[in-house]
Amino acid sequence: MTSECRACRTGLEHCHGAVVHHVYRRSECTEGGCLISDGEHTVHLDCNAVGCACDARMSDSMDPVSARRVG
Ligand SMILES: [Zn+2]
Ligand SMILES: [Zn+2]
Ligand SMILES: [Zn+2]
Repeated sequence: MTSECRACRTGLEHCHGAVVHHVYRRSECTEGGCLISDGEHTVHLDCNAVGCACDARMSDSMDPVSARRVG
């Protein structure tokens, strides 16, 4: 296997997944069940790069103008 990275060989806790940074949600890893911190990852993505549009969705549903109550 040539796909093993240095951390794999040395047994370090690490992850080959990518941390997806959301605008309005917690960042999450593409590897399900990943428990290591964001900073331990080597790959970081903005969520819109993976087809997530949480910023657009949230700004639509939380429109400050339409959400404002009258009276
Ligand atoms: Zn590895
Ligand atoms: Zn991970
Ligand atoms: Zn997102």
